[in-house]
Amino acid sequence: MNTSWFQKYPENGLIKRAYAFAEEAHKDVKRESGDPYITHSLSVAETVHKWGLDEASVAAALLHDVVEDTNFTLKNIDKQFGKEVAFLVDGLTKLKKIQYPEHDPNVETLRKFIISFSRDLRVVIIKLADRWHNMRTLKFLPEDRQKRIAWETSEIYAPLAYRLGMQRLSGELEDLAFPYFHPEEYLWLLDNVKDRYEERESYARKIKPIIRKNFERNGIKVIAIDSRAKRYSSLYKKLQRYDMDLDKIYDLVALRIVVKTIEDCYAALGVIHKLYPPLPGRIKDYIARPKPNGYQSLHTTVFALENIITEFQVRTAEMHEVDELGIAAHWAYEQIKNSKRHSEQWKGVLSRKELLWVEQLRNWQKSFSDKELIESIAVDFFKDRIFVITPQNDVIDLPAGATPVDFAYRIHSDVGNNCVGAKVNGKIVPLNYELQSGDIVEIMTQKTKKPSEDWLRFIKTSLARSQIKNAIKDKIKTLREKSAPAGVEFKIVNQDRPGFLKDVTAQFDESKINIGYLSSETDKRGAISAVTVRTAPLTKSKLEQILVKIKKIAGTKEVNYKFNR
Ligand code: MN
Repeated sequence: MNTSWFQKYPENGLIKRAYAFAEEAHKDVKRESGDPYITHSLSVAETVHKWGLDEASVAAALLHDVVEDTNFTLKNIDKQFGKEVAFLVDGLTKLKKIQYPEHDPNVETLRKFIISFSRDLRVVIIKLADRWHNMRTLKFLPEDRQKRIAWETSEIYAPLAYRLGMQRLSGELEDLAFPYFHPEEYLWLLDNVKDRYEERESYARKIKPIIRKNFERNGIKVIAIDSRAKRYSSLYKKLQRYDMDLDKIYDLVALRIVVKTIEDCYAALGVIHKLYPPLPGRIKDYIARPKPNGYQSLHTTVFALENIITEFQVRTAEMHEVDELGIAAHWAYEQIKNSKRHSEQWKGVLSRKELLWVEQLRNWQKSFSDKELIESIAVDFFKDRIFVITPQNDVIDLPAGATPVDFAYRIHSDVGNNCVGAKVNGKIVPLNYELQSGDIVEIMTQKTKKPSEDWLRFIKTSLARSQIKNAIKDKIKTLREKSAPAGVEFKIVNQDRPGFLKDVTAQFDESKINIGYLSSETDKRGAISAVTVRTAPLTKSKLEQILVKIKKIAGTKEVNYKFNR
């Protein structure tokens, strides 16, 4: 391992001390690869250093497994390295404890949770560096753990990296996970693509000097021309859309050109098009309209040398860096800008960074029209949603301001109805307590207990509201309930996707429940956001059965129901 980056830090400074501490804490422990454990910590720290994060982050990376895996505690870290490092290590320790239920359809919730729960983006970024190293050493693990870690990586961490704009890391994580996920497909690709990749690489080598010469002739300063072979994981996804026909993939090897300015980018595009005729409809201006994760570049596909169809990507050095580092790059810039205020109170630093993050997500969102991506970016991580944990480590997402009663009804209507008290992080709290992200919530129940009308004053979710109203319906009768025919009314809040409505009706059909009334609500964009279904009265088991089925439909966010009399 090249440790020159590390040697540059001063003796007895934070980084060197953290290293010595971690080395001592993990001594005698080996990785599955047989290497001393500290090699992992050092590698994660190196990545964090290279991404340009601050010293506290590098120190936290060195110490990230100490609390979870050794006898040292957070108090020890706090005492030795101060609050900021301890805060980061604490976040990483908590993230490590969370178990992600495999095959959970709601992976998006998990991704948001990680970000919200981490409180500070540096925790997420260090976690990604940790995951990257673990993926590179995955081959040493037993097969069942390989599969699980590859699943988490592909479903949670790679998309998370992508959302943070760390496109290159995201792709690498996908590629590292791919062979564990799709072993046969991977072998197929190796068999069929390897030669083509080599062919295309040598072709790229022929083109590069021609491009360079023409750019220089037109006064465009070239910083770099690289050829970039398409990743196996993304190639596979694309092949599935193109009948597995490799001849239809034009960006098997793309040429990536880095120039100085945005003007040069457009000028370069002009030169390329003068040299080689472009394929119509394949010019993409991600500079004027960046991707939601911040990616910027110009793309074009042309009939290049020997009439071979080739993709070019043109960008500035800064765009290139953002592509590789994403939010970490912005973060590093921000660091440099504010280095004078380095001694600033820790708390101020935290909120400033959060603001930066939210602001950036907003900017990305503004420049975009892709509906699904906008939804998935969820600009309001910190504002409108909280993520709490059940004693079984399941993650539950609730609106901000939600209370233990909202939580209880989310678990089960009986838990809500019989709720008598709640514990948060082991301490008893009042039922109107405002839950915070990361809280571990436990509900105490009593079979004979009935919900109280008072709860309606503080609960935040419509699910809790409708169920409390149901349970005390003798006291509260809404006009709607009076006029509606007897039976059950379901309200399904959903994420729009094609076929959602059809899947809902199919589930009722399958359960042999007749639908008496069906309507849907649309949002401003015309996407279906909620579906209402009324049926005849149902037995309790039928009701439970259909609720489970609805919850399993992809896109279902929330199901409420009430009884009409
Ligand atoms: Mn680790």
